[in-house]
Amino acid sequence: MNIPYSPSSGVFGALKRRMTRLQARKTMDCTKGRRIVSFSFDDFPRSAAQIGAQTLENYGWRGTYYTSTGFESTKNHLGPLFTAQDVARLVSKGHEIGCHTENHVDCALNPPVVVEREIRQNQKRLRALGAPTPRTFAYPFGEASAHSKALLGQHYACLRGVKNGINRRFADAHQLYATALEGGLDDKALALSFVDDLAKAPGWLIFYSHDISPNPGEWGCTPELLQAVCEAVKMAGFEVLPIIEAYSQLELLEKAA
Ligand SMILES: [Zn+2]
Repeated sequence: MNIPYSPSSGVFGALKRRMTRLQARKTMDCTKGRRIVSFSFDDFPRSAAQIGAQTLENYGWRGTYYTSTGFESTKNHLGPLFTAQDVARLVSKGHEIGCHTENHVDCALNPPVVVEREIRQNQKRLRALGAPTPRTFAYPFGEASAHSKALLGQHYACLRGVKNGINRRFADAHQLYATALEGGLDDKALALSFVDDLAKAPGWLIFYSHDISPNPGEWGCTPELLQAVCEAVKMAGFEVLPIIEAYSQLELLEKAA
């Protein structure tokens, strides 16, 4: 049986996570005028590569796929995971393939030597799959430490976490806020509240999900929820870009200011 791993919880874990958000930061200002939304999928299940990608493509958009390369052609609580063909198709359609380590390791617990090895293996495998070298990273389980933020920041333009929020004035490119798309239409209020919030002032709103399925697991969402959020984003007139493109554009704006 494939039981998902749970990182440390409780008061100590919460305190440590709060400390980590204040350490090894790479501050960026995302309030220079644009309202950008990025959609990302972690691990990633075939359903995200198929239903998720198709949904975005119907709007002329592309997403970011945080790939744990060790999951290729396997199956777990998220359903069947990506295949080589899925990666090839995503790349050909202009989606971004990002790093999520080879074996989905907790970067807060593992020593730097393991994290380094994990990202090297991930790059090697993605090269073999014909994907460009990943330029952005998402922390497995959302777990980061000051050390891993500093280390991974040397390899990637930006690093994505899992704390809900919009990246604005003092955003941390070493641990970007991202809002979960989980559940079905009954759960749309949270995601839509962030869409409404972005309408009020410029910033960068990142969503993430896992499986996109009529009966999603705990960390996935239904095709209807994804569609509803896409529709709200389109109605609001926001730009939708893969994470590396959003980061690059915001960095240019910041430098020009
Ligand atoms: Zn993951």
